[in-house]
Amino acid sequence: MNMEKLIELDKKHFIHPTSSIQQQQEQGPKMIVEKGEGIYLTDTNGNVYIDAMSSLWNVNIGHGREELAEVAAEQMKKLAFSSTFSTFSHKPAILLAEKIASLAPEGLNAVFFTSGGSESNDTAIKLVRHYWRIQGKPEKRKIIGLGRAYHGVAAASTSATGIPEFWNMAGKMMVDIYHADNPYGNGKEKAIASLRAVIEREGPETVAAFIAEPIQGAGGVLIPPKEYLQEVRAICDEYGILYIADEVITGFGRTGKWFGIENFGVTPDVISFAKGVTSGYIQLGGVIVSDEIHNVLKEKSKGTLFHGYTYSGHPTATAVGLKNIEIMEKEGLVENSRKMGEVMLEGFKKIKKELDIVGEVRALGLLGAVELVADPETNKRFAPELQVAPKVIEALHQRGVICRAVTYEGTDIICFAPPLIMNEEQVNTMVERLHDAIKEVRESLSRVLQ
Ligand code: PMP
Repeated sequence: MNMEKLIELDKKHFIHPTSSIQQQQEQGPKMIVEKGEGIYLTDTNGNVYIDAMSSLWNVNIGHGREELAEVAAEQMKKLAFSSTFSTFSHKPAILLAEKIASLAPEGLNAVFFTSGGSESNDTAIKLVRHYWRIQGKPEKRKIIGLGRAYHGVAAASTSATGIPEFWNMAGKMMVDIYHADNPYGNGKEKAIASLRAVIEREGPETVAAFIAEPIQGAGGVLIPPKEYLQEVRAICDEYGILYIADEVITGFGRTGKWFGIENFGVTPDVISFAKGVTSGYIQLGGVIVSDEIHNVLKEKSKGTLFHGYTYSGHPTATAVGLKNIEIMEKEGLVENSRKMGEVMLEGFKKIKKELDIVGEVRALGLLGAVELVADPETNKRFAPELQVAPKVIEALHQRGVICRAVTYEGTDIICFAPPLIMNEEQVNTMVERLHDAIKEVRESLSRVLQ
C-alpha cells in the first residue's frame, strides 16, 4: 500500500492517543514507522533515526530483540492466556513476581500485575485506601501528588497527574486527590512547606498516601534534590502517610539502578511500574507493595479483593518480562545505563559551554534533559510563541534523532531517554546532533536575542 493511501486511512479511521486531532487532519502522520533495530527506527521512506526516547521511555533493551519474540511465540503456543483471578495461577506470573521482588528495594516483596502505568497507579491508589479501610480508618483516603506529575489517564491516575490539561477532557476523575508544589522552580524548602501545608489543611488523619515519580518524566525530566525526597519520606512517617513511588519510567534500569528511588536513599511503601519491565514488547505493568502492606492484606482483607484486570499477570506478557530482565542482567544494562548516562551528561555540559541558549542540563542514567533559555545567567525563558524547543526537536528530526520537547508552563526542555544498550559512540553521535540542532535554532533566533 502506498504512503498516500496509508495517510488517508490514518486520518479517516485512526484516533491517535495524546494527539491533536486537528493537526492530524491537516498534516497526517509525521512519520509511519516500519522497523526497529537496536537503537534505530526506520520509517516507510527508509529514513533511519536514533530512537532517543526509547519510543515512549520504554524500549529499554532496544528494538528487534528476537529472544523476546521467541519467548512470546513459545508461551503463546503453550498457554497464550489463562486467568490469575481467584486461586488460578501459572508459572510465568509466579516467576516474574518473584524476580521483581528480588530486584525491588528491601521490604517490598509482593506484586500485583496490570497492563500498564495508568492501571498500576489506579491500583496503587485503590490499594492504599483499602489498606487503611481494613484497619478501621476509612477516612484516610486522600492522596497528595505533585505539580507537573504525570501518572496516566485512568480515573485515579488522571486525577493524580499534576498537569491540569489532563483534567480538561472529563473533569478530575476521582475526588480527594490534591497537589503540592514541585521542587522544580520552587526550591526544596518551598516544596516541603507546600507539602506540609496541604497535609495540615486536609488533616493528616484523612491522608492515605503521597505519590510521586522519583524523577518526573513528562514534566520535563525533573530530578529533585536528594534531600527533598528524603524529607518527604520523613514527613510521610511523621504523619502516618504511605509513600507511592511511580517508577513507570524510572524502573528497570532507566536511571542506572533497578529502581529510580534507590538513587535517593528512600524506601517507598508502594512502587508502581510498567514500560521497562517488558521493554515495551508487550503490555505489562504492576504494583509492588511493602511487607507491612502485604501482611495487613493477608490478615485483614476479608473476602474477595474486588480489583483485578482480565490481563493481570498475562502469561505471555509475564514470560516476556522474565526474558527481558534476564537479558538486562546478562548484558549488564543497568550498569551500562549508569555509565552511558555519565557520557551523555558530559556531552550536554559541553554543549552548554559552547552555546549560549542552554540552561540547566541534567541526567541520571540514560534519563536526561537540556533546557533552552534566553539567558542562562538569569534562566530567563523564551517567549512561548518562539517555539524554541519544538524547533530543536524538528532540527533533530532532520538529523535523524527522535526525542521529545516539554513546553509546559513556558519551559523549553529537550528530553532524552535512549535505549539502555547505547554505546559511547552512539551517545556521542546523538549529542553531536543535538549540538548542531541547537546551534541551527540559535542562529535563527539571533535577531530575537540581540
Ligand atoms: N506514570 C508515569 C511516570 C508515566 O510516565 C506514564 C506514561 N508515560 C504513566 C504513569 C502511564 O502509563 P501508561 O501510559 O502505560 O498507562
